[in-house]
Amino acid sequence: MPTLEIPAFTPARVAALNSEFQGASAETLLTWAAHAFPPRRLALACSLGLEDMALVEMLTRLPRVPRVFVLDTGRLHPETYDLLQQVRRHYGLDVEVFFPQAAAVEALVRRDGPNGFYEGLDQRRACCAVRKVEPLRRALEGADAWITGLRREQAPTRRDLQPFELDAEHGGILKLNPLLDWTFEQTKAYLRHHRVPVNALHDQGYPSLGCAPCTRPVQPGEDLRAGRWWWEEPEHKECGLHAQPRPQEPLTPGSPR
Ligand code: SF4
Repeated sequence: MPTLEIPAFTPARVAALNSEFQGASAETLLTWAAHAFPPRRLALACSLGLEDMALVEMLTRLPRVPRVFVLDTGRLHPETYDLLQQVRRHYGLDVEVFFPQAAAVEALVRRDGPNGFYEGLDQRRACCAVRKVEPLRRALEGADAWITGLRREQAPTRRDLQPFELDAEHGGILKLNPLLDWTFEQTKAYLRHHRVPVNALHDQGYPSLGCAPCTRPVQPGEDLRAGRWWWEEPEHKECGLHAQPRPQEPLTPGSPR
């Protein structure tokens, strides 16, 4: 199928897409996106979590596979790196990896220490800004649209998710949330059915994975994201990739708090 001409994205255009695709399956949304955008201009931001592994499986079944990138914060679990290695082999996928800027990490650690994120929300958001938000901005340069594994049931901050969003933070590009209506059980069933490789930590009580120092196993009955930034209130549990963090002062060596 030829690539379609996509009109510039406006709130009205995105609202029309949401109306047209409300209730559509994940595969339908991805198939539409893969036909609508050249493969180099459509990207999956892959955390290597369960949802994103389901999306990798779906995307690699498409005739034109879009970009897949990982943000390597430098603080991931060893098991997550093992999975990245496995994904490259299993799918023959050239996964792009984006690192934080070395100078920004050095300035952050000099100012807040290696684990300053435990000391307050500002420090935590500053770390996420350096290690995740800025690399995401670079990863999305030149993209027309990106794909996420967000699900509505994951967090109070995600209950109003729509299939499409206008991402003003990254130049007014389109953001697709194909799994928005999926449940955790549905996600796991899909992965089992298709024998998708997953992170070994999921069997050790980690339903949701992020950076190693900011993720711990959840107890039976706890919320699925209770192990993420467990010392913070639920409404703060976003790293800035999907919600605007409070503005951060630019980090320069020796900058005061
Ligand atoms: S999740 Fe934790 S270690 Fe990772 S970037 Fe955010 S604050 Fe830093």
